[in-house]
Amino acid sequence: MACARCPYTQSYTLLWQDDRDPEVKAIMLRCCAGPELQIRRGADTLFAEIFKTRTAVLERSEQLRADRSWESGAGESGEAPMPGAEQSA
Ligand SMILES: [Zn+2]
Repeated sequence: MACARCPYTQSYTLLWQDDRDPEVKAIMLRCCAGPELQIRRGADTLFAEIFKTRTAVLERSEQLRADRSWESGAGESGEAPMPGAEQSA
């Protein structure tokens, strides 16, 4: 989500990139509200969140690279995650 106050979308730092088709990459944008982490696949932005510190952005980006929860949420016919497995003992 672009910020209306600052045209920051043109400059960003590439955090990591997966060579897929289309390519998936994590970038850090500089916004007046703080550093923003975005996960992009091709022209689509799958994830966007503003953090308070660069360190938090880097940590989150590595988490997202590992767990890929953003990936399942982006599909049109993806399986919805269960809201908590019930255990009957
Ligand atoms: Zn801004």
